[in-house]
Amino acid sequence: MRFFVAFFMIFIASLNANNLDFAFIKKGTPSDNTMLLIGGIQGDEPGGFLAASIVATDYNITQGSLWVVPNLNFPSIIQRARGTKGDMNRKFAHVDVNDPDYKAVINIKKIISDKNVSLVLNLHDGSGFYSDTYVNADINPKKWGSTCIIDQARLEGAKYPDLIGIASKIKDTLNTKILNSSHTYHVKNTKTAEGDLEMLKSLTYYAVTQNKSAFANEASKNLNAEERTFYHLVAIEEYMRIVGIKFTRPFELNVKNVKKAIEKEIRLSFFDDMFVLNLMDMRPNLNYIPLKKGSQPLYSSSNPLVAVIKDSNGYKVQYGNRFVTRLVPQYFDYAKQVDFINVFVDGRQIKIKSGDKIQVKHFFNIERKNGIRANVIGYGSGLDESEENIYKKNMMSRYSVDKSGKIYRVELYETPSNKFAGMFLVEFL
Ligand SMILES: [Zn+2]
Repeated sequence: MRFFVAFFMIFIASLNANNLDFAFIKKGTPSDNTMLLIGGIQGDEPGGFLAASIVATDYNITQGSLWVVPNLNFPSIIQRARGTKGDMNRKFAHVDVNDPDYKAVINIKKIISDKNVSLVLNLHDGSGFYSDTYVNADINPKKWGSTCIIDQARLEGAKYPDLIGIASKIKDTLNTKILNSSHTYHVKNTKTAEGDLEMLKSLTYYAVTQNKSAFANEASKNLNAEERTFYHLVAIEEYMRIVGIKFTRPFELNVKNVKKAIEKEIRLSFFDDMFVLNLMDMRPNLNYIPLKKGSQPLYSSSNPLVAVIKDSNGYKVQYGNRFVTRLVPQYFDYAKQVDFINVFVDGRQIKIKSGDKIQVKHFFNIERKNGIRANVIGYGSGLDESEENIYKKNMMSRYSVDKSGKIYRVELYETPSNKFAGMFLVEFL
């Protein structure tokens, strides 16, 4: 498990490359009436893991307790596969100790059965659109999309025993928000205990055996990622209301804003801000990344779906299913991080620290600092590029971090040792 520490809406985890344990984020105030929200049990269902991730990063829980596991099957998310070794959602009755999913399944089962969890919501993107009658190949009783799923109508002794009543309420709420009548939501009761052998092995049925009120919400794989995510968020919010969780979010809930939330800039920091990238519009390859000699790249991100994965000639950065960029490292010994650096931005002096991004209208000029040289990547004047007025027209755009040629790295090295001492980003507006 990766435990995230919430600090003013920023999530921090120190990770090794190749650590693809799921994130476990606790929001709100501890309570014995906790809702557990799970996304990403199958890696090819981005609506579910994007919705859970947006709740984890963007929603502010003002009352009640919400736990979020946005990326339960993180390796399968990174590989864009349903499961890296079979379907994780069939491993909850039994999982082999040698199964690569063993640790994740055992850990989530512990969280599900925690005495404080009262309601479990598992998010899926199913095929087509469920309908009680056959309409066409996409809309018929065999499909799973656009459903609120329960394993049985009631669960006596659970905190919320009326599963079918709750699922119906969620369905009704979703149907007031549908984008097209073909997306109409239905309640699907799999009546698992009556002999659905496949569903007996599922996460929600495991939760039912632990006396937890469990539900699955299915968006449709026939929709794009932001539409699926939108429907999931509508459902999640209604479940939160049922549990008594109050929240705020920094946007009005509609498909356009959900797309923006999915695509917003994500901060990726290596070695406590020694090297930072703001993931947006990235070039597919970044060369000469100053990583630390003799160490795994320790990183943290503002988003739990970001992973840095070792590959043949460096590291690839993934955001959920999406490839972001490949980093080709150049290894350096690290000095102590510079405490601050003065930069003149359009003639005005500002004081910044490693990992900052500054915005420049016309030019910037780095004040010379004792024992430090500045290397502006893509500006070719010499070894130390302090005390020079640097305009966008001076930059070789192929060295930019972004595809639009606006954002550049400035790297700081200790002299004469040539140890790496930090960096900042310059964005020309
Ligand atoms: Zn699924």
